Amino acid sequence: MAAITYEFIKECKQTGARLGKVHTPHGSFDTPVFMPVGTLATVKTMSPEEIKEMGANILLSNTYHLWLRPGEDIIEEAGGLHKFMNWDGAILTDSGGFQVFSLSDMREITEEGVHFRNHLNGEKLFLSPEKATHIQNALGSDIMMAFDECPPYPAEYEYMKNSVERTSRWAERCLKAHKNPEKQGLFGIVQGGEYEELRKQSARDLVSLDLPGYAVGGLSVGEPKPVMNRVLEFTTPLLPKDKPRYLMGVGSPDSLIDGAIRGIDMFDCVLPTRIARNGTCMTSQGRLVVRNAKYARDFRPIDEKCDCYTCRNYSRAYIRHLIKANETFGFRLTTYHNLHFLVKLMGQVRQAIRDDRLGDFREEFFEEYGFNKPNAKNF
Ligand SMILES: [Zn+2]
Repeated sequence: MAAITYEFIKECKQTGARLGKVHTPHGSFDTPVFMPVGTLATVKTMSPEEIKEMGANILLSNTYHLWLRPGEDIIEEAGGLHKFMNWDGAILTDSGGFQVFSLSDMREITEEGVHFRNHLNGEKLFLSPEKATHIQNALGSDIMMAFDECPPYPAEYEYMKNSVERTSRWAERCLKAHKNPEKQGLFGIVQGGEYEELRKQSARDLVSLDLPGYAVGGLSVGEPKPVMNRVLEFTTPLLPKDKPRYLMGVGSPDSLIDGAIRGIDMFDCVLPTRIARNGTCMTSQGRLVVRNAKYARDFRPIDEKCDCYTCRNYSRAYIRHLIKANETFGFRLTTYHNLHFLVKLMGQVRQAIRDDRLGDFREEFFEEYGFNKPNAKNF
């Protein structure tokens, strides 16, 4: 029995978006889903109980960060990441590749792996497909990601072609090094930038490995939204229908809806939690910067249509005060609201797929959110 299986439920007749369920050794989750990010084995300022309470059944944690602190050996000794952080839902870990490429400026890519310097103290380190797999096996995540190269945007065709081919060879090495396929599923990452030919090549290589799921990588790295949408339009049809599809690093409300419409099942992003600690909230009427002076005497909740813990109990004025005073509780309240907002949004997306009206839902949501206005502020 494979560790990770995908149950297809139905397709939205209006858009082609997929409704499904992913089964893991730590429970199931409905898709399309948004996964909160708990970089260092914690979703910043939230307890695992709060994450559960808002309806999330899967979260993401970062291999690179846990490898450096506290080290995968300590987490393994604790009985794995689930036990270590007291989370009994599903966990997805990335491969560390993205952090090596984004956090470290001193790096050298070889066929063997990547040499780079630790972003904390400058110490020389080496990460390879085998090492990234070994760390994720020790962490015990339900879904592991293959170690890939994340080229910058834009990248030249020739560079991207070499990178795609190396990423395919690395995925094979990850699969070979994977010690625990009954309990952990290894997903491949389709790269290739904006080049359709290379996406095809990458998808063909990875699909031939018969992995339990596939991610679309190399998007949300600075390209314009129409480019992301176009790449998804020609990439998702290359992926097997009976496996989950994961769009990495995407979490703005419009992109979640547009990704689902293009056949994506899973999303993750630090966006909702990071902007929350800066006093920025996602609401049904658009972006609300609660730190702003105009909310000093505004005793309404952040979002009058939201029924989350924060909005049921606290006002904009109070939360603004806490955040201005750098009080932890303020960051907790905005984080709770933003995560709840996206978890609830994905519930609405699933309902719209069930009702064959995701296209109409998109129009209504964009209208109310203000995405249709020429000067709309996104994240
Ligand atoms: Zn709320």
